[in-house]
Amino acid sequence: MSPIKTRFAPSPTGLIHIGNARTALFSALLGDQFLLRIEDTDLERSRPEFVDTLIEDLLWLGISWQEGPENRQPTEAFFQSQRASVYADYYHQLVTMQKAYPCYCTPTELEVSRKVQLSSGKPPRYSGRCADLNADQRQSLAGEGRAPTLRFRVPKGETITFEDGVRGPQRFQTDDIGDFIIQRADGTAAFFFCNALDDALMGVSQVMRGEDHLANTPRQIMILNALNLPVPAYAHSALILGDDGAPLSKRNGSLSIQELRQRGYFPIAVINLMARLGHHYESEELMELPALKKGFALHHVGRSPARFDQNHLNHWQSLALRQVSDIGLDAWLQEETHVLVPKPQAALFRDVVRSNCQNPFEAHEWARLLFTEEAFEVDAECKILADQAGEDFYRQALDAAASNPEDFAAFLSALKEASGAKGKALFMPLRAAFTGRHDGPELAQLYRLIEPSILNRRLAVYLSPSH
Ligand code: GLU
Ligand code: ZN
Repeated sequence: MSPIKTRFAPSPTGLIHIGNARTALFSALLGDQFLLRIEDTDLERSRPEFVDTLIEDLLWLGISWQEGPENRQPTEAFFQSQRASVYADYYHQLVTMQKAYPCYCTPTELEVSRKVQLSSGKPPRYSGRCADLNADQRQSLAGEGRAPTLRFRVPKGETITFEDGVRGPQRFQTDDIGDFIIQRADGTAAFFFCNALDDALMGVSQVMRGEDHLANTPRQIMILNALNLPVPAYAHSALILGDDGAPLSKRNGSLSIQELRQRGYFPIAVINLMARLGHHYESEELMELPALKKGFALHHVGRSPARFDQNHLNHWQSLALRQVSDIGLDAWLQEETHVLVPKPQAALFRDVVRSNCQNPFEAHEWARLLFTEEAFEVDAECKILADQAGEDFYRQALDAAASNPEDFAAFLSALKEASGAKGKALFMPLRAAFTGRHDGPELAQLYRLIEPSILNRRLAVYLSPSH
């Protein structure tokens, strides 16, 4: 079998989110070779800084490409804005074969025609008004100062079929498709055209993209057929929905990859989440990219929409935290956190972080609470617990701590004996005193991490009537 070549072809008009990053990931997992092409023909909306960020985002996720910007010279070849001379050639071919023609209709005229069709219950389609103009007519329209677009002449009475790698056999009637624009009035290439052309010219054999592009595919196949260029295989994955059932967007919880990165998510957590959004894996383990690639197959891509769930992301993040190396974890923690953690406590603190935190900011909060006195506050629930336990309990705890400074088990049994408390009645008021909170790391860990003088002061807080 010849190698599968896939691509990711983003338009740099914004930050990439879970949705488009998943398209990139699926394509990268599917391809033996993978290329990155920047579709920046919309000069107004495309921004170089979005190109920079999307490259950073992909590299952060661990997705790399064999062809594309930053990997191969000349880099310009992978920016559509730099490929006008390539496209000019193919426009010329289409015009010469009379498979494309200039359309002089103004946007207002097209809009009026659209409204008329809609109001008479017809699907709006280009009327074909400029399809058969002669040279004189063209010249006179141009003379009016109309800048023409270039339209593709859709063949009449044909059926376009293809086998979608996810959705199965597809059929479209060309009579349902109006002649469409392949070059804008400003001379830039329209999406249908340059996207399809570049796939063919760049040797892409498998296109994997969102189902919002499904209806574009017959148009793109017609263009490639007209130019006698190879047609890639197509696969369209279902949309991702947010937790409210609407398409995933900023409003229902989708974050940009940049934000996920800034919030301290591990790339492997994000990758594992995305790989399962609409793709089924037998294994529920956290996998590195090579393993994800091994288990990836088009027939495991679902046809129904996947749902983004923040809890799933948290789940993968927790797994990632449990397996990250000490070095990786130290790099993830903030510099100001390292400053707070005493050297001998570093290993134990890492354990606490691995099982109690989701992000480096939470880890920093715990460091402040465990190693400084500035963050200690008693929450309302703890006050109630403390009142129930009573002052004697804390006096006994102070005694037990004084005689067992290093040994939590001994401390606990001494306190148990002195106070008669057990189970929750023993643990909860202690936790309240150690941290001022009612949940968090194990008591034994807290006891070892918090310096005895600080611990004593916290126990003593509950002896004062005002706590
Ligand atoms: N530039 C297009 C987009 O971002 C690419 C679509 C495709 O993958 O073919 O939607
Ligand atoms: Zn026209």
